[in-house]
Amino acid sequence: MDIGFIGLGQMGSAIAHNLVKAGHSVAVWNRSPEKTKALVEAGARKAETPAEAAGGKVVVTMLAHDAAVERVVFGEDGVLASPARPIHVSMSTIGIGLAERLTMAHAGAGGGFVSAPVFGRPNAAEAGKLFVVAAGAAEALAVCAPLFAAVGQRTFTVGEDPKAANVIKLCGNYMIMAAIESLAEAMTLAAKNGVDKASLLEVLTSTLFSAPVFKTYGEILVHEQFKPAGFAAPLGLKDMNLVDAAALNAKASMPVLAVLRSQLVTAIARHGEEVDWSAIAKVVDENSGV
Ligand code: NAP
Repeated sequence: MDIGFIGLGQMGSAIAHNLVKAGHSVAVWNRSPEKTKALVEAGARKAETPAEAAGGKVVVTMLAHDAAVERVVFGEDGVLASPARPIHVSMSTIGIGLAERLTMAHAGAGGGFVSAPVFGRPNAAEAGKLFVVAAGAAEALAVCAPLFAAVGQRTFTVGEDPKAANVIKLCGNYMIMAAIESLAEAMTLAAKNGVDKASLLEVLTSTLFSAPVFKTYGEILVHEQFKPAGFAAPLGLKDMNLVDAAALNAKASMPVLAVLRSQLVTAIARHGEEVDWSAIAKVVDENSGV
């Protein structure tokens, strides 16, 4: 299939490589053009503008935040300027309002729109083991099925309205952040009582807390692997702000969210923008005098 791919950051470059490996014809665009080099060496074609990348059947965006997606879709040389009218597959974690705006804009332009945010860090993206949460018109989802199969271990179809996928992604990231905070607090309590963090983690993840989120982040917390970031703290803060906007709009009460945002702001202020979002565990330690 002819696929355009826009956004070659940590996640996007890994996903695009898997599309090339699966035999798709891939045109790539990235704001910083040097990031296209490895993909071109692997067999992709470099597009000069987002509109050129959107010349095939499908165009994927995997970008940092709402503003980046708006720039590559609605900009002068953006996806909507392509006469091809492709199906736009948005894999970035974006807000619900933007998903609604994209749905309407593509429908108005005669193209399709599928929201397909993913769960999994860059190592899962490299291994083609992401979980894809997809929503959109049934015909568009059927076209995208081989693309999703090339990048993920499982695709969840959650309805015809694209924003449903974004709601689920934001709920998931809120729960990951809350899980990291609670695990960090438990580890600090254990350590201050002379119990090794690794021993606590082994008991928890071998009994009631065997979920991947506790195993993955538990290891990161025990070994304090906060740099290089797999998911940078400013992106985590961006997601908690998107959850906040969704909660305000829906009048959903989420008191724990305020704590998580504050911990992320403190982690960034103390340790810089390069740390992983799980560095909120350092804040928990510091606030307890560790
Ligand atoms: P990243 O490594 O920081 O990559 C961000 C990408 O967005 C880069 O291609 C960057 O271009 C581009 N970008 C940023 N601002 C832009 C702008 N104004 N105009 C055009 N392009 C712009 O981030 P990532 O970790 O790959 O994350 C990408 C998305 O996936 C985010 O929405 C994130 O929340 C989501 N996500 C991440 C993870 C994870 O574990 N990392 C997991 C699931 C979902 P440059 O190269 O020019 O900077």
